[in-house]
Amino acid sequence: MVLFRDKDSQRLHVDSRLMGESLVSQSFIENLKYDVKQFRSFPDVSVIKIGGQSITDLGARGVLPVIQEIAENAGKHRMIVSTGGGTRSRHIYAIAMELGMPVGIISKLGQSVSEQNALMISTLLNPYGGIKVGHDDIPKLGGYFAQGCTPVIHGMPPYGFWEHPPQEGSIPPNRTDVGAFLLAEVIGARQCVYIKDEDGLYTDNPKKNPEVEFIPRIGAGELIDMNLDDIIVERPVLEIMLKARSIHEIQIINGLKPGLITRALQGEHVGTIIFKDR
Ligand code: ADP
Ligand code: MG
Repeated sequence: MVLFRDKDSQRLHVDSRLMGESLVSQSFIENLKYDVKQFRSFPDVSVIKIGGQSITDLGARGVLPVIQEIAENAGKHRMIVSTGGGTRSRHIYAIAMELGMPVGIISKLGQSVSEQNALMISTLLNPYGGIKVGHDDIPKLGGYFAQGCTPVIHGMPPYGFWEHPPQEGSIPPNRTDVGAFLLAEVIGARQCVYIKDEDGLYTDNPKKNPEVEFIPRIGAGELIDMNLDDIIVERPVLEIMLKARSIHEIQIINGLKPGLITRALQGEHVGTIIFKDR
């Protein structure tokens, strides 16, 4: 970066290729090649999302074994736990849609439900170093990790009132799966693991269709192209992964099967891995 003084006005300027550009010119952006590697604050930290509908809503049966396994791993692995919304989000979405609420309002409603779950999960993890954090606490994560804490954050990304309208309807397209992924990306995490109630991705929703095949590993682009009617992760995660700089794969695992969280934290392939294939 070079500073120079304008001869006529005597003003200081920054000599940068960005000056005077609209930043939307396609040819400009294509030519703006910079090979700086993206900084990763926490390349050893695993972001793990506890599904709202798939785990938290099962109550003690679903939640307590997951908490136990996370607690057992807290001394060995650095983690951030992200929480989904689940059935109560769907309840409030249904009422809000009937009342004609804009997507930005519905997103805010979803945010508070995932925060309710973060409060419960962090309370259960408190004895093991769990600490509830908010979105503004991201720059403080280093301090929490230094004290041996396991931060628990609500998964709904903070688009809130600014959530983008979806193609159809008014369900916020960027929900807690997206929030967990973007969190992993911004901190340059080691991995992003989704704890749900199925072994991973199938060719269709196994709860509705018994004739399904398991897909242990697939590219995000390939999965988009398959255009499956129903999938186990929010679709924008796939699109975002194709543009991500740090997180090049996610893993979806079954939190109802003991031991899989531990094995995923150790880097094992125990569910479905979806990777960046273009
Ligand atoms: P979460 O609460 O973690 O956000 P969801 O309930 O939103 O989880 O999504 C997980 C559910 O997605 C599974 O329980 C499963 O019934 C459903 N699902 C839909 N399509 C598929 C698919 N193709 N493969 C696997 N699961 C699927
Ligand atoms: Mg979901």
